[in-house]
Amino acid sequence: MIKLSSKLPDIGTTIFTEMSGLANEYNAINLSQGFPNYTSDPLLSKLVQKAMNEGYNQYAPMAGSLDLRVAISNKFISLYNSTYHPDDEITVTAGATQAIYTVISTFVKSGDEVLIFKPAYDCYQPAIEVNGGIAVPIQLSAPEYSIDWLEVASKLSSRTRMIIINTPHNPSGTIWTKEDIRALERLTHDTNIIVLSDEVYEHIIFDDLQHESVCKYPELKARSFITASFGKTFHNTGWKIGYCCAPKVLMTEFRKVHQFNVFSVHHPSQIGIAEYMADASTYDNLSSFFQRKRDLFLSLIADSGFKFIPSKGTYFQVLDFSDITDEGDIDFAKRLTREKGIASIPLSVFNEGGRDDKVLRFCFAKTEETLVKAAEILNSI
Ligand code: PMP
Ligand code: GLN
Repeated sequence: MIKLSSKLPDIGTTIFTEMSGLANEYNAINLSQGFPNYTSDPLLSKLVQKAMNEGYNQYAPMAGSLDLRVAISNKFISLYNSTYHPDDEITVTAGATQAIYTVISTFVKSGDEVLIFKPAYDCYQPAIEVNGGIAVPIQLSAPEYSIDWLEVASKLSSRTRMIIINTPHNPSGTIWTKEDIRALERLTHDTNIIVLSDEVYEHIIFDDLQHESVCKYPELKARSFITASFGKTFHNTGWKIGYCCAPKVLMTEFRKVHQFNVFSVHHPSQIGIAEYMADASTYDNLSSFFQRKRDLFLSLIADSGFKFIPSKGTYFQVLDFSDITDEGDIDFAKRLTREKGIASIPLSVFNEGGRDDKVLRFCFAKTEETLVKAAEILNSI
């Protein structure tokens, strides 16, 4: 028998796979894994099909199609007045997940420490650990999930190689304020710390709040990667096209790994997305589109037994069930799926040591009909 020494001994199957599997098994309404249950713009599919018909079926350039990198660069200029050069500061990736993995594996060496804020999106810590790094958690508390910057300062050491941030934040639906960003800028000043800023929900932000991209802060920008996902923006998570941006000196190192990690990603999608993005209004309605869904969902469950603070961004809403049951959140989420026909994500899986604040995450990127049915169930609990 072969003897294995796992590099990730404590990792099982992701909660998203598990809960979507359970939802399918029990034919439950699936508000667990984050993906829309409606189609993306048919024009976008047509443009990708056109790219296939026109012969964009061989390897894309390693860094991504130049047209797409130009479109991304233009977006940063128009939205944030921030320049990333298409030649050497933008790389197209297989979703944000690959961008995040590659950033971490490019820079994190054995014994390096990486600060992560918990609850943390599930792909950060395994990527750190499989590369020999040490994840240093900063646990935030429900329901505000605000950051104690003195605690963050106390967790920095000479071994801190990277800090991973995520705003708007999955799973809590909170966002970083200007003050948070300034605090991060102060703390990293005069250090060699790299910031990985996961901004996949940059276009999904509510109540006229502003997304604080690290690219708006020149000193932070100089040490940061931004990771992004077209799956979130254009409602097609299955295409797995994303990108990352960083100053040239950082991106040069990234590409050394990227070219052997994936080399390049699906070519026709890149051509189609680039043409689609030429229409500058592509992002305009995204926040209001999702805000309507958030508002509908929350108005429908206003009198339920769940407590909540409205999500400020992302397409997730966390609901506190502490008035309903003392059950653990994983057990409760599974029971709701099996017995009530609605699937969600228990937040404890993203917390340090599985801390259970009695909250579940629900994805509201769903049709009105699905949200109405989901609310009927939640109101009956
Ligand atoms: N980061 C966060 C915070 C996410 O929520 C997701 C996916 N939902 C990703 C990264 C990964 O994005 P992609 O599907 O493009 O790999
Ligand atoms: N990002 C999605 C979510 O948060 C899940 C993606 C995945 O299944 N890996 O639900």
